[in-house]
Order: sequence, then structure tokens, then C-alpha cells
Amino acid sequence: MADLTTSLYALFDEERERFQSARRVLSYDEYLALLGAAPQRFTRDAARYLRDMFDHYGTVTVEKAYGKFTRWKLFDLPWEDDAGKREALVGHEAIQAELYRALSNFTRQGRVNRLVLLHGPNGSAKSTFVACLMRAMENYSAADDGALYRYHWVFPRGKGADGGRIGFGASSSSDEGLRVGDSYAHLDEGAIDAKVLCELRDHPLLLLPVPMRQALLRETLGPDAAAQVPLELWKGGPCHKCQQVFNALHTAYRGDLRKALAHVQIERWYVSRRYRVGAVTLGPQMAVDARERQVTASRSLAALPPSLQNTTLFEPSGELVDAAGGLLEYSDLLKRALEHWKYLLLMIETGEVSLDSSNLVPNLVLVGSTNEGHLDAFREHPEFASFRGRLDLVRAPYLTDWTAEKAIYDAQAIPGVRRHVAPHATELAAVFAVLTRMRKPTTDRFARTLATLAAELTPIEKADLYASGAVPSRLAGEQAKELRANIGALYHESDVYPNYEGRTGASPREMRGVILDAAQHAGYKCLSPFAVLERIADLCNRKSEFEWLRQETVAGGYHDPKYFQKVLRDRLVDRLEDEMRSATGLVDEARYVEGFERYVFNVSAQMKGEKIRNKLTGRDDPPDEAMMKDIERQLVATGSPEEFRRNVISRVAAWAIDHSGQKVPYATLFPNYIQRLKEVFFQEHRKQVVLSTRDLMVLITDEGAGLDADGRRRAEATLAMLKDRYGYCDHCAGDAAGTLLRERFADLKV
Ligand SMILES: [Zn+2]
Ligand SMILES: [Zn+2]
Repeated sequence: MADLTTSLYALFDEERERFQSARRVLSYDEYLALLGAAPQRFTRDAARYLRDMFDHYGTVTVEKAYGKFTRWKLFDLPWEDDAGKREALVGHEAIQAELYRALSNFTRQGRVNRLVLLHGPNGSAKSTFVACLMRAMENYSAADDGALYRYHWVFPRGKGADGGRIGFGASSSSDEGLRVGDSYAHLDEGAIDAKVLCELRDHPLLLLPVPMRQALLRETLGPDAAAQVPLELWKGGPCHKCQQVFNALHTAYRGDLRKALAHVQIERWYVSRRYRVGAVTLGPQMAVDARERQVTASRSLAALPPSLQNTTLFEPSGELVDAAGGLLEYSDLLKRALEHWKYLLLMIETGEVSLDSSNLVPNLVLVGSTNEGHLDAFREHPEFASFRGRLDLVRAPYLTDWTAEKAIYDAQAIPGVRRHVAPHATELAAVFAVLTRMRKPTTDRFARTLATLAAELTPIEKADLYASGAVPSRLAGEQAKELRANIGALYHESDVYPNYEGRTGASPREMRGVILDAAQHAGYKCLSPFAVLERIADLCNRKSEFEWLRQETVAGGYHDPKYFQKVLRDRLVDRLEDEMRSATGLVDEARYVEGFERYVFNVSAQMKGEKIRNKLTGRDDPPDEAMMKDIERQLVATGSPEEFRRNVISRVAAWAIDHSGQKVPYATLFPNYIQRLKEVFFQEHRKQVVLSTRDLMVLITDEGAGLDADGRRRAEATLAMLKDRYGYCDHCAGDAAGTLLRERFADLKV
């Protein structure tokens, strides 16, 4: 017990030290000293604060098949533990860039002059986006760079700064030495008779009269200080209540500002979503978000300067006030009737909100969200045109890259699944979701060659093009090259259309439901991709609920749930077959890649007229023409081998220019060729694969009864490979083997 107490006391000591070293309470002079040392950091409004926060966590460049994007690391929640990181924003680099641009504009203009309105389909990541921002604010406000300060007015017991009278209070105690320097800021609570809070968390500099403040800012920031600080800080003032207190003190001390500022206690504050400090989310049911009430007479009022006791003080409250200094989010903003939020736009226009007795000038960044339906309706409103200029519309579509969509499910749905997660289960759900969102390219936007190629793209081809840059295997040579070079153009094609790609389709929320339901399926022991397919079929029957199921299908398979399901099932069984073949160990995966790499090496030497050093003999041999011909026999369906060689070499060369010094990733650069080499090999060794699959099935379902020693050993090796390399367990490996034997290998008599 004693040990526990000792260690607890040690923690108390640490906490006290941390409190003091974090400079949580400061006098006005101490605050000014900090400001002098880091003027930029101490002259921020909410917009600059947020923009600096973006910079604080830094960026990373993400390279996708459809282009390079800047990702702000704050959206990865790097300070969170693994469970917390699941709430991170997946993808959506474009929204990040848009908000950063908006914040930079506010900074340049010196004030927040627009409400950022995120619009997109239900369940796109709008609220996740804002939640990440708010979490980052909490973390940043605890860092040195992100320190935030507010102030209170304190009125001590005993002697006031003017010496003669007994403070401003009614207390008769006459403690000497209560003053620390010129300030009452560090007095113990017990020595303070009254404390008046600034609910709006006014910037401490606002207490200095404008000419004095501007002189100070010029001294610390240079002659162009006006251009460097927010407008409000340059020429604004404190809130109504603080102004009243200041005036009273000013009068009481006959103009001695030092004495008036001695009553200012500066306190560091921290953003908190839970306690609604500097980060507040308002649901659509909100009514009035700023109010004021009269400060009622209490013992503490008696401690105020006499002139203040005769003044009516009001304290503002409400969400606008709670969020002061930070971020206020209006979720589903347009669900409210316009008259309920019109004042927000007026506030943005004028910079202030009128209350009964005063005007508030809240220091805030405002972000709203809305679905497209409500925004469409709002566009029809007669007043839309006049409000348009006060809104910064930022599009928040669904993801159209299934690798990113899969990452959402893996992070957010899978932790709730108690079963083994079979390979391809979440991938199937993600590909389905993206298929429902695909839009057939409007080809007249493109030049002729590309237009033809784009017109022929099926939804699954388009989805794979985005996800990995994989060009359909039916295309080769120049066509493949043309399409590959224009993935970005296809991706951005519909950005400017009202009906952009990612505006409709299955939402991540529905797909999470599909995955969690599939994880309860009685027919499987694992979360099986087959169960996911069944639940997707159920989802597709709920036409009355989902607009995306009622869309007219478009040639090529767009908006066609039946087609999506067929494509997905075929693709799944293809994948299972592919993995089973590799797992039988007849040929190591790497061998195909090595074979292709050797081919490229030989072709390159032959084109340059060079010889190749034979590592075994040490001799320089001519390129291996027989080997090259053999590969071409397998890969070249149309066109000449010479053209094929040129195309391959130019792709490798182009890649090498962009990635100097790196090893060429043949498997990802030429997936179709590697796949084709595997196919050919498999056709030649199909019988062995089928036999191995049968043995595997016997091993799993019948404990290997009847297998000879050799067969058992091979089946065990296959199973081990399926587990280690692809993540199967006994059950889903059995499901896969069973499906393949029924659907793919049934014809083969062995
Ligand atoms: Zn105030
Ligand atoms: Zn399993």
C-alpha cells in the first residue's frame, strides 16, 4: 500500500511539474514575453491555427494509378494507438487539399469569409473528415507549437493595485504580499475573491487599445505587421463583457493600464470534443447556437470594481461560443430551414452575430456538410445566388479506388468480426461498392483513340485501372500504352459534372452491414467471400431503399447489379484457382517473374547488339534467341514479335526514368504477361494441380484417409502454402478446394 501511495505521489509531482512547465497560467507580462519569442505563433486566429496544424503534422506524397496526391498526415491520426487509428480518413486527398486551400485563403484575406460546405452522397467520409480535424486539434493544442491561450479577470482579496482601498472586494482580510510582480495571475484560488471569465476565449492581445497593439505588433513583426496578422487582431477588440471590465478598471486606476492588466490571468486552454471546447459538432436539430444571459448577482459580483457593480454584465453561451477559437461543424446543414441558419451567412458577411445587448465576433472556422439532394434543392432557392459567395463548396464523393475502400472495411468492420477472415472477403465487398459507383465515360471529352478505348471499358476494367493501373488483358501495345497514360484523365473526367463519379452507389455503411451479416452466415466457419456474395445479392434486392439500384443500366454493364455479381463471382473463383495452383508448389511464383526478367534482359542486349556474360562459364554469349522465341510464343497473340519487344523495352525504360536506381517490379509492371505465362504453364500441368486439389480436399475433410505418404505430404505442403502465403485457414481452404473441384476441375477425368 505504501508503495502504491509513493508511486502515486510521484505521479502527482510529475503532473505538477508538467502543469508548470506547460505554462498553463501566465501573467500578461509573461504572455508578452512568449509572444516576443514566437510572434507568428501568438498572433493566429482559428483559420491560421488550423492551417499551421496541417503543416505541423506534415505531408506525404501518395502515388496512385490516377495521379500523385499530397496527403496531410494529420488525417492518419499518427498520435493515436492502433484502435484510434481505425478512425483515420482513408483516401480523400482531394478534400484535404481543398480545405487547406480554403484555410490558406482565409489566412491571406485576414479573416474567415466563407463557410466550407462539404457535399457528397450519404456516408461519404464527411463526418470522418471533420472528426479527424478535431482530433488533430486536441492533439495539437497539447503540443508546444499548438499552445492556445485565453484569459480571465481576477480580483484578489485584500489590497488592490492602487494600494489605498481594500482591493475591489468586500473582504476585510488584508494579506500583504499577495501580488506576484505586477500581476494577480499567480494568486492561489483562495486569495481570489472573484473571477470573470471570457467565454469567447478572446485573444489576449485584444485587451491592448488598438494604437498600442499595432505599435507592439510592428515592433515584433516588422513594418508590414498589418499584412501578417488577422484583421480582427489588428483592429478588433475584446468581447462586450471584457470591454466593460476593462473600461471599469481603466477608470478605477485612472488610466494606468499596467494596473488594469494586473487583473488579467492568462491560461492555456486545450481543445476538447468531449467537453465542447473549441471543437463542436451541431446536429441538424439545433435551433439557436448563440445566446446570452445576465450575470446574476452573487457574492463574487460584490468583489468587482464599484463601477462594474452598477453595470449589467451579460455572458454569452451556445455552440458558437463553445467552439470559439476553433472549429464549428454543422452536420447536415441544409436539413435545416434556411431561416435557421441564414444568420450564419450574415455572420460570415459582417464578421459578427447580433445578440440582444451586444454583437459577438466569434473567432471560428465553420464547416458544414450536406448530401447532394439537399444541395440540389438549395440551388433552386431564390436566395441561393446571394449566398453562393459565402460558401466554399467542397465535393466529398465516395471512393472509386477499391484498394482504399477495402482499407476502410479492414479498419472499421473487421475488428468487429469474431471469425477467421477468409482471403478476398473484404476485397469482394470493396470491389462491389466501387462497381456500383462507376460511371460510363462520356467519350466526347477525349481525343479519338482514347475515346474508343474509354467507350469499351467495362466497369470492372475501369475499377481495376484506378486501383492498380492494370490495363485490360485484351489490350496490347499502343492501345495499352494510350490507356495507361490517361488513367488520370479518366479519373477526373466527371469532376465538373453535377452527376460526378462517386456521387451514387453503395455506401461504406451498407457494405459494413453486408460484411458483418456475412460474418454470421451459418453455412461457413469463416467470414467467407461466398457469404459476402450472398449478402450482396440480398442487398441488391432492396431496390425500394436505394436509388443506385433503380438506375437505368448502361451498355457495358454500368449500374447493373446482376452483372456486378457475376463478375465478382467469376473473379473470386479465378483468384482461388490462381492461389491453389501456386500453392501446389509445382512452380514457384517467382519463377514466372524471373523468366520474364531474363527475357527483358536478353531482348535489351540483343537490341543494343551486346553479349551477355554467362555466370557459369565466364564467357560472353549472344542473347538466347530460343528462350526469347519461347516467351513470345506464349505472349504474342497479335502483331509482330519485334513490335512486342520494342513495347516491352520502352515500358521498362520509361519506368526506369521515373524511378532511377530502383529494381524494376516486373510483376506489377507486366501483370498480364506474368498471368499469361502462368496460364500456359498451368494448361500444361493442369492434371497435377487437380490431383493435388483433390488430395487437399481429402486431407481437410477426411483427415487424409486413403492418401499415400507422398499424396499426404504434398497435400500438407499445399495447405501450409495456402495458409502462409495467402492467409487461409483449414475451413476456407476447404471451401476454396470444394468450389474449384465442382466448378473448374470437374471436367477432368484423372
Ligand atoms: Zn471576452
Ligand atoms: Zn478461414
